[in-house]
Amino acid sequence: MTSAAVTPSSVTVRVPAKVNLELLVGPPREDGYHPLATVYQAVTLFDEVTVRTAAEWSISVVGPQSVGVPADDTNLAARAARRLAAANGVVQPVHLRVRKEIPVAGGMAGGSADAAAALVACDQLWGLSLSRPALEKIAADVGSDVPFLLSGGTAMGSGRGEVLAPVLAKGTYHWVFALSEKGLSTPAVYAECDRLRSGRPVHQPSPSPEMMTALRSGNARALGEALSNDLQAAAISLMPEIGDVLDAGLEFGAVGGVVSGSGPTVAFLAEDHESALDLAVSLTASGAVQDVRRATGPAHGAHVVPTSRPVSWPT
Ligand code: ATP
Repeated sequence: MTSAAVTPSSVTVRVPAKVNLELLVGPPREDGYHPLATVYQAVTLFDEVTVRTAAEWSISVVGPQSVGVPADDTNLAARAARRLAAANGVVQPVHLRVRKEIPVAGGMAGGSADAAAALVACDQLWGLSLSRPALEKIAADVGSDVPFLLSGGTAMGSGRGEVLAPVLAKGTYHWVFALSEKGLSTPAVYAECDRLRSGRPVHQPSPSPEMMTALRSGNARALGEALSNDLQAAAISLMPEIGDVLDAGLEFGAVGGVVSGSGPTVAFLAEDHESALDLAVSLTASGAVQDVRRATGPAHGAHVVPTSRPVSWPT
Protein backbone atom coordinates (compact mmCIF):
# COMPACT_ATOMS: atom_id res chain seq x y z
CA MET A 1 0.00 0.00 0.00
CA THR A 2 1.23 3.54 -0.76
CA SER A 3 1.09 6.45 1.69
CA ALA A 4 -2.28 7.20 3.23
CA ALA A 5 -3.88 10.67 3.04
CA VAL A 6 -6.24 11.46 5.88
CA THR A 7 -9.55 12.40 4.31
CA PRO A 8 -12.52 12.96 6.60
CA SER A 9 -15.68 11.06 5.71
CA SER A 10 -17.70 13.91 7.18
CA VAL A 11 -17.03 17.35 8.63
CA THR A 12 -19.16 19.19 11.20
CA VAL A 13 -18.94 22.95 11.65
CA ARG A 14 -20.47 25.00 14.45
CA VAL A 15 -21.51 28.54 13.69
CA PRO A 16 -22.89 31.33 15.90
CA ALA A 17 -25.80 33.73 15.45
CA LYS A 18 -25.21 37.48 15.34
CA VAL A 19 -26.72 40.57 16.87
CA ASN A 20 -26.23 44.05 15.44
CA LEU A 21 -25.11 46.32 18.28
CA GLU A 22 -25.56 49.24 15.93
CA LEU A 23 -27.29 49.19 12.55
CA LEU A 24 -27.28 52.42 10.59
CA VAL A 25 -29.05 52.32 7.24
CA GLY A 26 -28.41 54.79 4.40
CA PRO A 27 -30.62 55.65 1.43
CA PRO A 28 -31.20 52.80 -1.08
CA ARG A 29 -28.48 52.44 -3.77
CA GLU A 30 -29.26 52.04 -7.46
CA ASP A 31 -28.85 48.25 -7.15
CA GLY A 32 -31.58 48.24 -4.47
CA TYR A 33 -29.22 47.53 -1.57
CA HIS A 34 -28.96 49.94 1.35
CA PRO A 35 -25.50 51.10 2.41
CA LEU A 36 -24.93 50.05 6.02
CA ALA A 37 -22.69 50.96 8.90
CA THR A 38 -23.07 48.21 11.41
CA VAL A 39 -21.34 46.68 14.39
CA TYR A 40 -21.85 42.94 14.57
CA GLN A 41 -21.34 40.72 17.58
CA ALA A 42 -21.40 36.92 17.31
CA VAL A 43 -23.26 35.24 20.20
CA THR A 44 -23.32 31.71 21.62
CA LEU A 45 -26.47 30.44 19.90
CA PHE A 46 -25.21 27.84 17.45
CA ASP A 47 -26.31 25.98 14.34
CA GLU A 48 -24.30 22.98 13.14
CA VAL A 49 -23.75 21.92 9.55
CA THR A 50 -22.40 18.45 8.77
CA VAL A 51 -21.29 17.59 5.24
CA ARG A 52 -20.73 14.06 4.01
CA THR A 53 -19.60 12.74 0.63
CA ALA A 54 -22.66 11.42 -1.27
CA ALA A 55 -23.72 10.08 -4.68
CA GLU A 56 -26.05 13.04 -5.21
CA TRP A 57 -26.57 16.50 -3.74
CA SER A 58 -29.12 16.49 -0.90
CA ILE A 59 -29.91 18.32 2.34
CA SER A 60 -31.78 17.63 5.58
CA VAL A 61 -32.76 20.17 8.23
CA VAL A 62 -33.26 19.12 11.85
CA GLY A 63 -33.39 20.68 15.32
CA PRO A 64 -35.65 22.87 17.43
CA GLN A 65 -35.68 25.75 14.92
CA SER A 66 -36.07 23.74 11.70
CA VAL A 67 -39.71 24.65 10.95
CA GLY A 68 -40.01 26.76 7.80
CA VAL A 69 -36.45 26.15 6.66
CA PRO A 70 -36.27 24.85 3.08
CA ALA A 71 -34.67 21.40 2.67
CA ASP A 72 -33.82 21.94 -0.99
CA ASP A 73 -31.42 23.85 -3.24
CA THR A 74 -32.75 27.20 -2.00
CA ASN A 75 -31.29 26.58 1.47
CA LEU A 76 -28.43 29.04 1.92
CA ALA A 77 -26.11 26.26 3.12
CA ALA A 78 -26.71 24.32 -0.13
CA ARG A 79 -26.26 27.48 -2.22
CA ALA A 80 -22.96 28.24 -0.53
CA ALA A 81 -21.67 24.67 -0.98
CA ARG A 82 -22.63 24.63 -4.69
CA ARG A 83 -20.97 27.99 -5.26
CA LEU A 84 -17.77 26.81 -3.59
CA ALA A 85 -17.83 23.66 -5.74
CA ALA A 86 -18.39 25.63 -8.96
CA ALA A 87 -15.63 28.13 -8.17
CA ASN A 88 -13.11 25.35 -7.56
CA GLY A 89 -14.04 22.76 -10.19
CA VAL A 90 -15.30 20.29 -7.55
CA VAL A 91 -17.67 17.65 -8.96
CA GLN A 92 -18.08 15.60 -5.74
CA PRO A 93 -21.68 15.96 -4.41
CA VAL A 94 -22.35 16.12 -0.67
CA HIS A 95 -25.21 15.57 1.71
CA LEU A 96 -25.65 18.53 4.06
CA ARG A 97 -27.29 18.12 7.45
CA VAL A 98 -28.25 21.41 9.06
CA ARG A 99 -29.08 21.38 12.76
CA LYS A 100 -30.88 24.59 13.66
CA GLU A 101 -30.87 26.30 17.07
CA ILE A 102 -30.81 29.85 15.66
CA PRO A 103 -34.32 31.34 15.32
CA VAL A 104 -35.54 31.44 11.71
CA ALA A 105 -36.37 34.80 10.10
CA GLY A 106 -35.55 36.35 13.48
CA GLY A 107 -32.93 38.90 12.43
CA MET A 108 -30.07 36.77 13.78
CA ALA A 109 -28.72 35.71 10.36
CA GLY A 110 -29.34 31.98 10.81
CA GLY A 111 -29.38 31.30 7.06
CA SER A 112 -26.16 33.26 6.55
CA ALA A 113 -24.60 31.39 9.47
CA ASP A 114 -25.43 28.05 7.83
CA ALA A 115 -23.92 29.29 4.57
CA ALA A 116 -20.68 30.22 6.36
CA ALA A 117 -20.64 26.82 8.09
CA ALA A 118 -21.18 24.99 4.78
CA LEU A 119 -18.23 26.87 3.22
CA VAL A 120 -15.86 25.93 6.05
CA ALA A 121 -17.11 22.31 6.14
CA CYS A 122 -16.91 21.72 2.37
CA ASP A 123 -13.52 23.44 2.15
CA GLN A 124 -12.20 20.82 4.58
CA LEU A 125 -14.14 17.83 3.18
CA TRP A 126 -12.93 18.51 -0.37
CA GLY A 127 -9.38 19.27 0.83
CA LEU A 128 -9.39 22.71 -0.81
CA SER A 129 -7.64 24.58 2.02
CA LEU A 130 -8.66 27.94 0.55
CA SER A 131 -7.14 31.08 2.01
CA ARG A 132 -9.36 33.18 4.29
CA PRO A 133 -9.70 36.00 1.70
CA ALA A 134 -10.75 33.46 -0.97
CA LEU A 135 -13.39 32.00 1.35
CA GLU A 136 -14.57 35.50 2.31
CA LYS A 137 -15.01 36.43 -1.35
CA ILE A 138 -17.35 33.48 -1.96
CA ALA A 139 -19.09 34.22 1.35
CA ALA A 140 -19.82 37.81 0.27
CA ASP A 141 -21.29 36.55 -3.02
CA VAL A 142 -23.68 34.29 -1.08
CA GLY A 143 -24.93 37.02 1.30
CA SER A 144 -24.00 40.25 3.05
CA ASP A 145 -23.79 38.76 6.58
CA VAL A 146 -21.93 35.57 5.57
CA PRO A 147 -18.35 36.95 5.81
CA PHE A 148 -18.96 38.08 9.40
CA LEU A 149 -20.23 34.63 10.44
CA LEU A 150 -16.95 33.18 9.13
CA SER A 151 -14.90 35.41 11.41
CA GLY A 152 -17.22 35.99 14.41
CA GLY A 153 -16.13 38.15 17.35
CA THR A 154 -17.11 41.81 17.20
CA ALA A 155 -16.58 43.68 13.93
CA MET A 156 -17.69 46.67 11.94
CA GLY A 157 -19.46 46.05 8.64
CA SER A 158 -19.85 48.52 5.78
CA GLY A 159 -20.98 48.33 2.16
CA ARG A 160 -23.91 45.89 2.33
CA GLY A 161 -22.40 44.70 5.63
CA GLU A 162 -19.89 42.42 3.90
CA VAL A 163 -16.84 44.72 4.18
CA LEU A 164 -15.42 43.97 7.61
CA ALA A 165 -13.04 45.88 9.86
CA PRO A 166 -11.92 44.88 13.35
CA VAL A 167 -13.29 46.66 16.41
CA LEU A 168 -11.50 47.03 19.71
CA ALA A 169 -13.95 45.39 22.14
CA LYS A 170 -13.32 44.45 25.76
CA GLY A 171 -15.19 42.02 27.96
CA THR A 172 -17.97 39.47 27.69
CA TYR A 173 -21.57 40.56 27.36
CA HIS A 174 -24.64 38.74 28.68
CA TRP A 175 -27.60 38.67 26.31
CA VAL A 176 -31.21 37.61 26.64
CA PHE A 177 -33.05 37.15 23.35
CA ALA A 178 -36.83 37.42 23.25
CA LEU A 179 -38.02 35.23 20.39
CA SER A 180 -41.25 35.60 18.49
CA GLU A 181 -43.35 32.80 17.02
CA LYS A 182 -43.70 34.81 13.84
CA GLY A 183 -40.86 35.88 11.54
CA LEU A 184 -40.33 39.14 9.66
CA SER A 185 -39.21 39.31 6.05
CA THR A 186 -35.95 41.29 5.78
CA PRO A 187 -36.91 42.97 2.43
CA ALA A 188 -40.32 43.94 3.90
CA VAL A 189 -38.64 45.63 6.89
CA TYR A 190 -36.24 47.61 4.64
CA ALA A 191 -39.20 48.67 2.45
CA GLU A 192 -41.10 49.83 5.55
CA CYS A 193 -38.01 51.74 6.72
CA ASP A 194 -37.87 53.56 3.36
CA ARG A 195 -41.59 54.30 3.56
CA LEU A 196 -41.35 55.72 7.10
CA ARG A 197 -38.39 57.93 6.11
CA SER A 198 -39.74 59.13 2.73
CA GLY A 199 -39.57 62.89 2.33
CA ARG A 200 -36.85 63.16 5.01
CA PRO A 201 -33.13 63.51 4.25
CA VAL A 202 -31.26 60.22 4.88
CA HIS A 203 -27.50 60.51 5.27
CA GLN A 204 -24.72 58.09 4.41
CA PRO A 205 -24.21 56.00 7.55
CA SER A 206 -21.05 56.04 9.63
CA PRO A 207 -20.42 54.30 12.97
CA SER A 208 -21.05 56.36 16.09
CA PRO A 209 -18.20 57.32 18.42
CA GLU A 210 -20.47 56.38 21.39
CA MET A 211 -20.56 52.75 20.26
CA MET A 212 -16.79 52.55 19.79
CA THR A 213 -16.18 54.15 23.22
CA ALA A 214 -18.65 51.79 24.89
CA LEU A 215 -17.00 48.70 23.36
CA ARG A 216 -13.54 49.88 24.38
CA SER A 217 -14.77 50.37 27.97
CA GLY A 218 -16.15 46.82 28.29
CA ASN A 219 -18.97 48.32 30.36
CA ALA A 220 -22.39 46.69 29.84
CA ARG A 221 -24.32 49.82 30.87
CA ALA A 222 -22.41 52.01 28.40
CA LEU A 223 -23.01 49.46 25.64
CA GLY A 224 -26.67 49.19 26.61
CA GLU A 225 -27.08 52.93 26.13
CA ALA A 226 -25.28 52.90 22.79
CA LEU A 227 -27.37 50.10 21.19
CA SER A 228 -29.28 51.38 18.15
CA ASN A 229 -30.98 50.11 15.03
CA ASP A 230 -32.42 52.18 12.18
CA LEU A 231 -34.71 49.25 11.29
CA GLN A 232 -36.31 49.16 14.74
CA ALA A 233 -39.13 51.62 13.98
CA ALA A 234 -39.96 49.72 10.79
CA ALA A 235 -40.02 46.35 12.58
CA ILE A 236 -42.33 47.81 15.27
CA SER A 237 -44.53 49.38 12.60
CA LEU A 238 -45.00 45.93 10.99
CA MET A 239 -45.27 44.09 14.31
CA PRO A 240 -46.38 46.48 17.11
CA GLU A 241 -46.02 43.82 19.85
CA ILE A 242 -42.22 44.21 19.50
CA GLY A 243 -42.60 47.60 21.22
CA ASP A 244 -44.33 45.94 24.19
CA VAL A 245 -41.55 43.35 24.46
CA LEU A 246 -38.90 46.11 24.49
CA ASP A 247 -40.77 47.95 27.26
CA ALA A 248 -41.11 44.77 29.32
CA GLY A 249 -37.40 43.86 29.12
CA LEU A 250 -36.28 47.35 30.15
CA GLU A 251 -38.79 47.34 33.01
CA PHE A 252 -37.38 43.97 34.18
CA GLY A 253 -33.88 45.41 34.51
CA ALA A 254 -32.15 45.09 31.13
CA VAL A 255 -29.41 47.73 30.74
CA GLY A 256 -30.31 48.03 27.05
CA GLY A 257 -32.62 46.56 24.46
CA VAL A 258 -32.71 46.64 20.67
CA VAL A 259 -34.42 44.84 17.81
CA SER A 260 -31.93 42.36 16.37
CA GLY A 261 -31.26 43.13 12.68
CA SER A 262 -34.59 43.21 10.85
CA GLY A 263 -36.38 41.60 13.83
CA PRO A 264 -38.60 40.40 15.31
CA THR A 265 -36.13 38.99 17.87
CA VAL A 266 -35.38 41.55 20.60
CA ALA A 267 -31.90 41.51 22.13
CA PHE A 268 -31.59 42.59 25.76
CA LEU A 269 -28.28 43.28 27.42
CA ALA A 270 -27.94 42.37 31.09
CA GLU A 271 -25.39 43.69 33.56
CA ASP A 272 -23.95 40.23 34.36
CA HIS A 273 -24.72 36.50 34.34
CA GLU A 274 -27.06 36.66 37.37
CA SER A 275 -29.02 39.60 35.98
CA ALA A 276 -29.41 37.76 32.67
CA LEU A 277 -30.88 34.75 34.51
CA ASP A 278 -33.32 37.01 36.40
CA LEU A 279 -34.32 38.85 33.24
CA ALA A 280 -34.95 35.60 31.35
CA VAL A 281 -37.14 34.29 34.19
CA SER A 282 -39.10 37.56 34.47
CA LEU A 283 -39.73 37.80 30.73
CA THR A 284 -40.91 34.19 30.57
CA ALA A 285 -43.09 34.44 33.69
CA SER A 286 -44.73 37.68 32.52
CA GLY A 287 -46.01 36.00 29.36
CA ALA A 288 -44.77 39.04 27.41
CA VAL A 289 -42.64 36.84 25.15
CA GLN A 290 -43.10 33.44 23.51
CA ASP A 291 -39.64 32.12 24.25
CA VAL A 292 -36.27 33.38 25.53
CA ARG A 293 -32.66 32.31 24.99
CA ARG A 294 -29.60 33.39 26.94
CA ALA A 295 -26.24 33.76 25.25
CA THR A 296 -22.94 35.55 25.66
CA GLY A 297 -20.89 37.47 23.16
CA PRO A 298 -18.51 37.73 21.48
CA ALA A 299 -18.35 34.15 20.17
CA HIS A 300 -15.99 32.52 17.67
CA GLY A 301 -17.02 32.35 14.00
CA ALA A 302 -17.65 29.14 12.01
CA HIS A 303 -15.29 26.45 13.26
CA VAL A 304 -14.80 22.73 12.68
CA VAL A 305 -15.94 20.47 15.52
CA PRO A 306 -13.17 17.92 16.06
CA THR A 307 -14.23 14.33 15.36
CA SER A 308 -12.99 11.50 17.58
CA ARG A 309 -11.49 9.38 14.80
CA PRO A 310 -10.62 10.48 11.24
CA VAL A 311 -10.89 7.82 8.51
CA SER A 312 -7.75 7.00 6.48
CA TRP A 313 -8.16 6.17 2.81
CA PRO A 314 -5.33 4.55 0.83
CA THR A 315 -4.09 6.73 -2.06
P1 ATP B 1 -31.01 38.19 8.48
O1 ATP B 1 -30.79 38.53 9.91
O2 ATP B 1 -29.75 37.79 7.75
O3 ATP B 1 -31.81 39.18 7.73
P2 ATP B 1 -32.95 36.30 9.40
O4 ATP B 1 -32.24 35.78 10.60
O5 ATP B 1 -34.03 37.29 9.63
O6 ATP B 1 -31.87 36.86 8.41
P3 ATP B 1 -32.99 33.66 8.34
O7 ATP B 1 -33.23 32.80 9.54
O8 ATP B 1 -31.61 33.71 7.81
O9 ATP B 1 -33.54 35.12 8.60
O10 ATP B 1 -34.00 33.13 7.23
C1 ATP B 1 -34.71 33.94 6.33
C2 ATP B 1 -35.39 33.02 5.31
O11 ATP B 1 -34.38 32.36 4.55
C3 ATP B 1 -36.19 31.89 5.97
O12 ATP B 1 -37.53 32.25 6.10
C4 ATP B 1 -36.02 30.72 5.03
O13 ATP B 1 -37.09 30.62 4.14
C5 ATP B 1 -34.76 31.04 4.19
N1 ATP B 1 -33.60 30.14 4.44
C6 ATP B 1 -32.82 29.60 3.51
N2 ATP B 1 -31.84 28.85 4.05
C7 ATP B 1 -31.99 28.92 5.38
C8 ATP B 1 -31.29 28.37 6.48
N3 ATP B 1 -30.22 27.57 6.32
N4 ATP B 1 -31.71 28.68 7.71
C9 ATP B 1 -32.79 29.50 7.87
N5 ATP B 1 -33.51 30.01 6.87
C10 ATP B 1 -33.12 29.76 5.63
